[in-house]
Amino acid sequence: MTKLVHDGTPEGIHAAVTGWLELNWTTEAERGANASDEGMRAWLTKVRDAGLATPSWPEEWFGLGISARKAGIIEKAFRARKAHGWGRDRFHLGAISVFKMGSEELKREVLPDLLAGPICCLLYSEPNAGSDLAGVRTRAEQDGDEFVVNGQKVWTSNAVEADYGMLLARTNWDVPKHKGLTFFLFPMRQDGVEIRPINQITGESEFNEVFITDARVPARYAIGEVSEGWKSFQTAIAYERLIMAQGGTERRGRQNEPTTPLLIDLARRKNRIDDTSLRQKIAQAIAYRQLNSLNNKRAKAEIAENGASSLMSLGKLAMSRIQHGDARVAAEVLGPEALLSGTPNPDAANASFDAAKAYMNSIGGGTDQIQRNIISERILGLPKDDAVDRDLPFKDVKTG
Ligand SMILES: Cc1cc2nc3c(=O)[nH]c(=O)nc-3n(C[C@H](O)[C@H](O)[C@H](O)COP(=O)(O)OP(=O)(O)OC[C@H]3O[C@@H](n4cnc5c(N)ncnc54)[C@H](O)[C@@H]3O)c2cc1C
Repeated sequence: MTKLVHDGTPEGIHAAVTGWLELNWTTEAERGANASDEGMRAWLTKVRDAGLATPSWPEEWFGLGISARKAGIIEKAFRARKAHGWGRDRFHLGAISVFKMGSEELKREVLPDLLAGPICCLLYSEPNAGSDLAGVRTRAEQDGDEFVVNGQKVWTSNAVEADYGMLLARTNWDVPKHKGLTFFLFPMRQDGVEIRPINQITGESEFNEVFITDARVPARYAIGEVSEGWKSFQTAIAYERLIMAQGGTERRGRQNEPTTPLLIDLARRKNRIDDTSLRQKIAQAIAYRQLNSLNNKRAKAEIAENGASSLMSLGKLAMSRIQHGDARVAAEVLGPEALLSGTPNPDAANASFDAAKAYMNSIGGGTDQIQRNIISERILGLPKDDAVDRDLPFKDVKTG
């Protein structure tokens, strides 16, 4: 399979990608991709090889070397056809981290595979290290050209489906907590990795506890330098916050659809569109989203230049408020109907699902309170919170 041929203009890219999809995303390909993991992998391989999974990356790294704006044309064409595999340069945190911070050797070894399917979960939080993530106690000890890993992670989304995890583990206990961490691409499917699903308020079970006992990760799978993992992690979390800052509510079967157009539709269908108070609230919701998308553009530019951006915390915090706000407006449009649930009441079921799911953005990827701390310290330049353990060797930090 060869790369997509295009003339570099927006019109040329649009014509090329729609032609490519016409030829390749046939009913048969769609059925195959949806039928099995192998079918999906075959399709994703095709998308990767055409440069369409990561169009903003350079040509030698599976991309087309086009701007993010032009890559959006490809994304739009894929979305319109409901085709899979687009936007891995925007949403696949494992692939992005390896591409941005991995060694040349690691990139050559794992990127082809990462782009053709495997889910990568995030092995960050632990029972005693959530907001204070630099306090992780999962240990990785070098044994020849491998590290042996022991510890427990929690709230790990999609761990059951994941082939790899982005693992934050402690490799040096003699230095302060931010300094002795290593960021690994960790193979999940091995003895010594036990996954226990957690049930959620939404009725889903997306996240898990992960118990790691004498599991192994090759030393070459370190992303960035050994014991310098906090730096690599900062870049990875900046991309995660960027994704969350852009995110619409993920609703069953309606992934990443922004809620605001749905609010207008809901108000129309419920004959509430002429209610001036509601119209004002919907308009406010639209204004917040517009404002947030402008802020995200600033943050994206900063990440591209510096590898990380504190501005992303503003976007993520704003998206929390937007999602909670949208859920409240939906409930107001529905009135008492919002209390119903189940398949006979899809509007109410969606509204209560969105209200519960809004907490995902308020907690996952760092809580709203932590984003406020980051904004106050790194953007507004206010003094840092007191921290007794910041400069102590981690092995001397007292725990309760
Ligand atoms: C939907 C979802 C998906 C997630 N997926 C993953 C995943 O895939 N991988 C992963 O590793 N983790 C994941 N998490 C976990 C998430 O990152 C943590 O829950 C989060 O960082 C908070 O940590 P904690 O739960 O330990 O709470 P704690 O850190 O114990 O915080 C408890 C409360 O205290 C507040 N608080 C703590 N410290 C401060 C402070 N210094 N200043 C002000 N307030 C403070 C917090 O804001 C919070 O309200 C997910 C969480 C959710 C909700």
